[in-house]
Amino acid sequence: VADENRGVFADPRQALREVFGHEAFRGLQADAIEALLKGRDALVVAPTGFGKSACYQIPALCRPGIAVVVSPLIALMADQVAQLREAGVVADMLNSALPEGERRAVLERLRSGQTRLLYVAPERLLMDGTLELLERCQISLIAIDEAHCVSQWGHDFRPEYRRLSALTGWFPTVPRIALTATADAQTRADILNQLQMAEAEVLVGGFDRPNLRWNFAEKREPLRQLDRFLAARPEGSSGIVYVRSRKKAEQTAERLAAMGYAAEAYHAGLDAELRADRQARFQREDGRVMVATIAFGMGIDKPDVRWVVHLDLPRSLEAWYQEVGRAGRDGLPSETLTLFGPQDVSFTRRMIRESDAPDEVKRVELLKLEQLVGLAEGVGCRRQAVLAYFGDSCDPCGNCDACLEPQEAVDGTAAAQKALSAVYRTDQVFGAAHIVDVLRGVESEKVLRNRHQTLAVFGMGAETAEAEWRSILRQLTTRGLLEVDLEGHGGLRLGPAERVRPVLRGETEVTLRRPPPRALSPSRSR
Ligand code: ADP
Ligand code: ZN
Repeated sequence: VADENRGVFADPRQALREVFGHEAFRGLQADAIEALLKGRDALVVAPTGFGKSACYQIPALCRPGIAVVVSPLIALMADQVAQLREAGVVADMLNSALPEGERRAVLERLRSGQTRLLYVAPERLLMDGTLELLERCQISLIAIDEAHCVSQWGHDFRPEYRRLSALTGWFPTVPRIALTATADAQTRADILNQLQMAEAEVLVGGFDRPNLRWNFAEKREPLRQLDRFLAARPEGSSGIVYVRSRKKAEQTAERLAAMGYAAEAYHAGLDAELRADRQARFQREDGRVMVATIAFGMGIDKPDVRWVVHLDLPRSLEAWYQEVGRAGRDGLPSETLTLFGPQDVSFTRRMIRESDAPDEVKRVELLKLEQLVGLAEGVGCRRQAVLAYFGDSCDPCGNCDACLEPQEAVDGTAAAQKALSAVYRTDQVFGAAHIVDVLRGVESEKVLRNRHQTLAVFGMGAETAEAEWRSILRQLTTRGLLEVDLEGHGGLRLGPAERVRPVLRGETEVTLRRPPPRALSPSRSR
């Protein structure tokens, strides 16, 4: 690298090799770099750990001038700056935490044109002083990291990101690249719109995890389902069981320990020392089971997590993807199991509805939950569904539960109508067992006591097996056509009228999954 041209590389590959020590570009990296070098804008959507930073760091080293990198997290900035300096690149950062003397030195390096990459927090960048200073410098490109922060659809909306649209006016000819790990279709569109990057090349990739086998199952007897799953895992393999609450993490870990598993709980309520201890043991030893809340995630550095189980459904497809993605980082075959049940979905829906969040945010959160429920309920290839969600595509994978054990999709409109009427006619207070008795025409003591044998709907579903009715009721609940009364005794009631009415009137079809017969028999064993 010649010092007199301040290390401007002619060849991106040479920069990759000499500065970062990597031999070849990964996936879309080359396309993103090429777009910037041609002066075009780009939006890069790829998972954490993919190598998004190289998409702007390499063009920064191949174009003259200063690359401005907008990043919301001071810790991440500091990390990147340190790494670049380690590699001999002049990188700096500007943020509110910087001592005055440091700040002056940074400004001096900017003015003299030594700096190749400047990391800056959005609020600092948007100050007039900063913008005016940068306007007088030669800017090679602008990178906007964690770009989902610009969108209410993202999970981490930051109002100051909205103001980054001002960059278009200040630096009209400077190519911009926005980067994020999480962006469904709405978020992507929103990013392009908010940042005024309509012409940007959109590059999505890296979401496929071919070594992960994804399984979903209706939650019936969660601990037994977990036990069966664990019994089928290779000897000595470690994994994570995700649950919704701290209390449940404790209880589940205890139950598993009593069953002979090397299980421990991990959640934010434990003191830091204990947490560090348990995490270290999980990293170090084989055959461990970590029963955790979402608190267990950041900083797991264990490549051979062989499996992940969700005993409770996460709140969004993105959260699910993050969590199952902790399995198989070493690329070896790994398996995940996600249990979902009507109770879960009803509970989460209610948590969202009753939160203090603004209505607009609640609406987005409910839709995000529905996207995950849709994945769980779907009958098609899981990999195709997940990649489609992130804007990518693939052929049916042959390596997910839906490909390996296809489930039938059947028209369940008539069954749904019967079930909804049975719930309605029995006054929306009874649980699934009783509703199934009514549908199947069983003259139980409870039926007779409530005179439900006199209802028109009594016995209208006699031809359908009990287990299948149970499955239908669960599916109607996860779709919001039925709701579980969570305070009372788990009674079923109708969901919102705008969902239920079109079904009862026959205006909307209901497609249901018919699980393989094996799955319907209560005492199934692998
Ligand atoms: P992201 O921002 O997408 O989460 P990073 O930019 O932090 O990911 O990169 C993750 C890791 O991948 C880093 O250790 C980086 O050195 C490495 N990496 C990036 N590009 C390549 C490549 N082309 N070949 C090998 N490793 C790479
Ligand atoms: Zn598949």
